[in-house]
Amino acid sequence: MQIRENIKLASYTTLKVGGNASYFAEPTSTDEVIDALRWAREHSLPVFVLGGGSNLLVSDAGFNGLVLHMAIAGIDTRADGDKRIYSVGAGEEWDTFVARTVEDNCAGVECLSGIPGTVGGTPVQNVGAYGQDVSETIAQVSAIDTTTLERVQFDNEACKFSYRQSRFNGCDSGRYILTQVDFALRADGEPKIAYADLKRHFSNSIAIAAVPSLAETREAVLTIRRAKGMVLDENDADSRSAGSFFKNPVVSVAEYEQIAAGSSVPVPHFDAGQDLVKLAAAWLIEQTGITKGFVLGPVGISSKHTLALINRGGATAADVLELKKTVQRKVRERFGVELHSEPVMLGFNSPEKECP
Ligand SMILES: Cc1cc2nc3c(=O)[nH]c(=O)nc-3n(C[C@H](O)[C@H](O)[C@H](O)COP(=O)(O)OP(=O)(O)OC[C@H]3O[C@@H](n4cnc5c(N)ncnc54)[C@H](O)[C@@H]3O)c2cc1C
Repeated sequence: MQIRENIKLASYTTLKVGGNASYFAEPTSTDEVIDALRWAREHSLPVFVLGGGSNLLVSDAGFNGLVLHMAIAGIDTRADGDKRIYSVGAGEEWDTFVARTVEDNCAGVECLSGIPGTVGGTPVQNVGAYGQDVSETIAQVSAIDTTTLERVQFDNEACKFSYRQSRFNGCDSGRYILTQVDFALRADGEPKIAYADLKRHFSNSIAIAAVPSLAETREAVLTIRRAKGMVLDENDADSRSAGSFFKNPVVSVAEYEQIAAGSSVPVPHFDAGQDLVKLAAAWLIEQTGITKGFVLGPVGISSKHTLALINRGGATAADVLELKKTVQRKVRERFGVELHSEPVMLGFNSPEKECP
């Protein structure tokens, strides 16, 4: 495995901003990951694991350490009763894997069609969309513990999944390098049509009488996502983003009631259990006057999706940060609610690092 120097990271991210990595390697096996970790130790360098760079904001100064761009490939399958187990290399492209499961008529990840990034990136923030989360089907995660260089395995419970969270971006952030993810999918299972947008799509469709197939569900999800700029497309500047930049904030019932009392229109909200309420980040942002198509120099808000901060061309990480802070400040001033960002920040001073 070659270790290269001074590699520009912008082209490895979907936002297309950010400086250089001092060192850069592309491990294709678990052994190569361990070799790279040993090399970084010998040179006293920090290590950062890069998947598809689709949930990442790299600073303009870049990263003074070793970036491991995961290239472990392979999709193996085996039957297990009415389940089919897929053991997938962390470097496989996520949507290639989803397409394969749909072709095989195995249910469980069809609503996650079109999400960019690698398979190894999905457990980190428990990727989800259209009513489905990867935590519903992940059976096991294989990883290297960077503190001991040992191979370890986590079953579903040990991953500590919750909304956009797991142990891998929470209590153990940065400790484990995921090398393989095993998914237990339902052979010949039905798709999950739980989300309003999907239900609406199919209720508008006269062509489909009964339960849609997995392939029809995948196509529907891709169509809906494209309309929101949520499928990577070189010809669509609205997709030059890191997806949803802000998480939906969770507040106490009392805080929600205060916001609702001060609003002349109904405040969209969802029960989040334990006297908590989840608010819609997009709605909060729009109420401050920052709407789709908002422009701030070379960055802006997607014309199709309020939560997507986009690089309109030639933006720097500093430009993205300025827009992020503007949105957060306006929502804080108007509602007293703190919006937390979803993407991982690499190469910033500690105040910009956000612990989920
Ligand atoms: C257009 C667009 C649409 C999106 N839509 C959605 C969506 O619908 N739902 C959703 O949840 N997300 C969405 N995202 C965000 C993103 O695609 C996911 O979070 C994705 O899983 C990130 O994977 P990645 O390989 O690109 O990770 P990166 O962005 O490369 O890395 C993100 C974090 O994961 C860590 N990481 C990555 N791989 C590994 C590994 N093998 N081992 C250990 N740590 C690792 C990195 O160190 C980093 O901390 C979207 C992004 C874009 C650009």
